[in-house]
Amino acid sequence: MRIGVLDIQGDVSEHVNILSSLGADPVRIRKSPDLENVDGLILPGGESTVIGKVMKERGLVELIMKKKLPVMGTCAGLILMSENVDGGKGLLPLLDIEVKRNGYGSQRESFETDLNIEGIGQFHGVFIRAPIIVKVKKGRVLSQYENSPIIVSEGKHLGMTFHPEIFGDGRIHRMFIDSI
Ligand code: GLN
Repeated sequence: MRIGVLDIQGDVSEHVNILSSLGADPVRIRKSPDLENVDGLILPGGESTVIGKVMKERGLVELIMKKKLPVMGTCAGLILMSENVDGGKGLLPLLDIEVKRNGYGSQRESFETDLNIEGIGQFHGVFIRAPIIVKVKKGRVLSQYENSPIIVSEGKHLGMTFHPEIFGDGRIHRMFIDSI
């Protein structure tokens, strides 16, 4: 299975390495022709405004929607996939959720914690200037932290507010691949 990793910002190599370790065929996506023949796409974290701007300029947004690609988004990637972002429309509205960017504020910009995720169990999550999911309209909440959803699946799409790639644990990537 060929899985694209958007290669604009963020932990691209970490996602690529995890996909390889799972026996998937990772493809770095920089321009729209790179999306040909991929079965799914990972949107890494970074700065959602920057990533979104580059994606629009390169025609990636339209193509992802047209191809109905299954998407897994982490942190900024999740922001891009949200129907509603800080009261405005998300760029790739694949998850019917509302998010607040930088939801934990400057006091707790980044933190790590052990999560318990449905279908996976204990998982170490790293939150870096993470968004908070304030509403889930469709989809399934697979885990919460401090009463807010932190990972949501809707159809073949999967989005999470934390970074799952940092310690090389591939179980969330496996869950995404298995759902495609
Ligand atoms: N705060 C970033 C944003 O709003 C997301 C941070 C991240 O991806 N780690 O886009």
